[in-house]
Amino acid sequence: MESLQRKLRRIDGRGYKAYKEIRGVYQFQGYTLFVDHVQGDPFAAPSRVRVRVKQQVAKFSPELFKNRSRRIGVEDYLVRAFSNAIDAVARGHRGSGKSGMVSIASCGQEILERSAVVVNGEFVEVRFLVGLPARGRMVLGKQAEEVFFQEIPLIVSRSLLHENTDRDRLSRQVDVCEDADFIRSSLVEKGYVCFIANDSILPRKTGIDDRPMNLSKAVPILSPESLSMTFDRPNSGTITGMAIPEGVTLIVGGGYHGKSTLLRAIERGVYNHILEDGREFAITDVNTVKVRAEDGRRVEKVDISAFLANLPTGIDTRSFSSDDASGSTSQAASIVEGMEVGAKLLLMDEDTCATNFMIRDRRMQELISKDKEPITPFLDRVRELYSQFGVSSILVLGGSGDYFDVADTVISMDTYQPRDVTSEAKEIAARYGTQRAREVGNSFSKITQRAPLRHSFNPRRGKREVKIDTKSMNEISFGTTRIDLLCVEQLVDVGQARAIGDAIHYMSRKYADGSHSMLEIVEMVSRDIEKSGLDVLSPFRDEVYGDYALPRKFEIAAAINRMRTLTVKQLM
Ligand code: ADP
Ligand code: MG
Repeated sequence: MESLQRKLRRIDGRGYKAYKEIRGVYQFQGYTLFVDHVQGDPFAAPSRVRVRVKQQVAKFSPELFKNRSRRIGVEDYLVRAFSNAIDAVARGHRGSGKSGMVSIASCGQEILERSAVVVNGEFVEVRFLVGLPARGRMVLGKQAEEVFFQEIPLIVSRSLLHENTDRDRLSRQVDVCEDADFIRSSLVEKGYVCFIANDSILPRKTGIDDRPMNLSKAVPILSPESLSMTFDRPNSGTITGMAIPEGVTLIVGGGYHGKSTLLRAIERGVYNHILEDGREFAITDVNTVKVRAEDGRRVEKVDISAFLANLPTGIDTRSFSSDDASGSTSQAASIVEGMEVGAKLLLMDEDTCATNFMIRDRRMQELISKDKEPITPFLDRVRELYSQFGVSSILVLGGSGDYFDVADTVISMDTYQPRDVTSEAKEIAARYGTQRAREVGNSFSKITQRAPLRHSFNPRRGKREVKIDTKSMNEISFGTTRIDLLCVEQLVDVGQARAIGDAIHYMSRKYADGSHSMLEIVEMVSRDIEKSGLDVLSPFRDEVYGDYALPRKFEIAAAINRMRTLTVKQLM
């Protein structure tokens, strides 16, 4: 601690490069400070710093992190607590560029595994950023002293000592994580794909604000009797709500009655949520993929022949590639790519689907004969998806009753409340036949696995051998390639996008040798992360980053699949 102080006093007033001297490890009262990386100038990315507090001092009981669910709950809680303490304590901006800024990964409504905090039996470690203060390019040693000797000690003591945390809130968040994970796995064992507890608040504040809608306006959800189900929780007793069984489910109802809001909650139910989010017990099978049309996207050698055949130019749809896919072909490719890496539930919303991919009614069949229409609509494949592959679907479709014939469950949303209208829909289907012919020439029997080839992944940009940047969750720059993730809707945190960028580099070095399938690759990466933590993704040996959040294997695959440089070999 004294040695850091001496260094800061010595370099005060010198050129910014003098800060390089403070890289090192310092013993403070109650914690160790690591200055891992010192920024080159005040405008560059801020310096990377870690604080490690021994559990003899921090005193978080092992009960709080005795399993993975609980550990993630504690770690996520501490990231937020540290961030709140920064807001309360740090003076922030002082000098040029990012001078004096203390910051940590920011979190949304989802509880995710993050690299910003590590909690184990030995210590609590927090990784964060400090903008080393300067005027112009001149070291402001006094200001740096303030940050390291006044602000950080206070932030640490406010947020990383168990005695100073809101213990009740912390233990509730940890319990919710464990309970939600428990329901998520028992759900699937019992043959259901998702569960939405009664009184959940599904609507959000605005289209760009993911916090819950004001409780005075939001209508809490209540399960219809016929879909009602009760789960036991390890920590908080029983909970009742709507459970949607496997198979084909339709969500119907008038416009503006809450269909998309329900689907969105199901989409996000693959993640746990913080207290008071309203979706703490809106829980979905982890193997769920939201699919949508995404015209313009890249597709590389995907077998979409189950949905498209006889394209006008004679293109072989068993190995379909495009640099500019259409709405229908992009949607077909996304379904197959999701199934390729293990999707068990597909979610689709009419608002973002290609109509010609979803339906083709009697009259259109009459006008445009099958040999002129390459598309087999999803309607004619959705049952096979379930019977052949065990893949369920939940479809929001207010506009077509043709799906009544193929649905197992029909839920109607009526002023934000679900009703079970399955038998009504079936009666109507029996009374009014669609008179359309099923359009299944070839059978849908297998998913062709693909092996990504190493030369697809070049992280080099200019003089930098590895340059992977992620400024928002919608876009990764991988070398000179831009990966557009705007339509990958289950990506929820910029930290996930950062992890994906580095995961692509990681897997390209380790696994993309042309013999491993996409499924094997994303599973191996996920397993490595589970075993050794998100730190394994760091492209530079021994450097740790505090800005990763755990991505799902589906989003890693989705990013790879959208790379304009991707080349694969189809495996037979
Ligand atoms: P749909 O897809 O059926 O057209 P949306 O799900 O888009 O309807 O919802 C329409 C509007 O109603 C949105 O502004 C949404 O925020 C709001 N809304 C949805 N569910 C609820 C609810 N439970 N309580 C209050 N408002 C809701
Ligand atoms: Mg809608």
